[in-house]
Amino acid sequence: MIKLPNHIQPDQAVLDQLGDWQAEITGTFAEQSTLAKKKFKSRNTKQNATLRKVKDALTQMCAGARRCVYCEDSIADEVEHIAPKDLYPELTFVWENYVYACGNCNGPKNNKFAVFRRDNNTLQKLNPPDWPKETQPPPGEPVLINPRVDDPMKFALLDLKGTFTFVQLPNTDNAVKQRFEYSFEEVLRLNHQEREFLREAREEAFGDYKARLVEYDKQKHRGVSRDKLDKLIAGIRKKNHPTVWREMQRWQQEGWLAQVDTDLNQLFLDNPEALTW
Ligand SMILES: [Zn+2]
Repeated sequence: MIKLPNHIQPDQAVLDQLGDWQAEITGTFAEQSTLAKKKFKSRNTKQNATLRKVKDALTQMCAGARRCVYCEDSIADEVEHIAPKDLYPELTFVWENYVYACGNCNGPKNNKFAVFRRDNNTLQKLNPPDWPKETQPPPGEPVLINPRVDDPMKFALLDLKGTFTFVQLPNTDNAVKQRFEYSFEEVLRLNHQEREFLREAREEAFGDYKARLVEYDKQKHRGVSRDKLDKLIAGIRKKNHPTVWREMQRWQQEGWLAQVDTDLNQLFLDNPEALTW
C-alpha cells in the first residue's frame, strides 16, 4: 500500500452532486446511519452517471490495470468508504473518503474502524463486541491507515529478504505500531495465511521489476532512443504491486539492498535515475 496521489478528482459537477446527496443525510445519528446505507446503495449502480465518474477518477489512483489500492493485486471493483458510512454517515458522499478496492479486501474490512479516543487516548474499536452497533463514535483520531492521507510506508516495511510480508518499521512509537497492527494485520489482512497468494505475488513482482530494470540498463547501454527508454520506464510505473518497487528503492537508499541482491543494488548504482520512478 502506497500513498495515493491527491491531485486526482472528478469534475466539479460530480463533486457538487455528491454534496447535494450528502445534504440529504439528516436526522438523529441512527437515522443518518440508516439513510447513508440506503441512499448509497440505491445510487451505487452501473447506470448512475455520477458514480461512474467517481469510479473513473478512482481508477486513476489504482495500481497497474485498476488493481485494488490495498492489496495491489486483485481487480478493484468496489467503491470503498475508508471511514464506514454506518459509523460516519457525514462522510457517505464525500470524495475524500473513497478508494477503489477489491471484494477480497473490502468484504472482510466491512465496517471495521477504530479511533484513538480523544478523552483518554486509548485505542477504541468501533464494532461489536467493543462498541454497540449503530452508535455514534467518540471523538478521536483514526487508527486505520488512510492511503489518501497517510503514507503507509511510514508504518510498514516490506521484507525483501525472503518472506515478502509486511513488518513493523524499527524504532517507531507505540501509536505507529498499533496503527500498523490494526491496518495491515487485523483489518486489511495483507499478511494473512489465507492470502498466501499475495506474498507470492509480491515475490513475483520483485523478480519482474528487476527484469525490467535489467532490460532498461541493457537498452540504455545499447544507445536506443529516448522514446524507447521512456516506454520501459512507463512499463515499470504502470505495473501492479507498486509497493514492491518503492521498497526496492527504499532498501537501496537505506543501504540494505546489497545484502539482499548485489546485482540489483549495482543496477540502481549504475542507473540512479531509477530511484525517482
Ligand atoms: Zn484488495
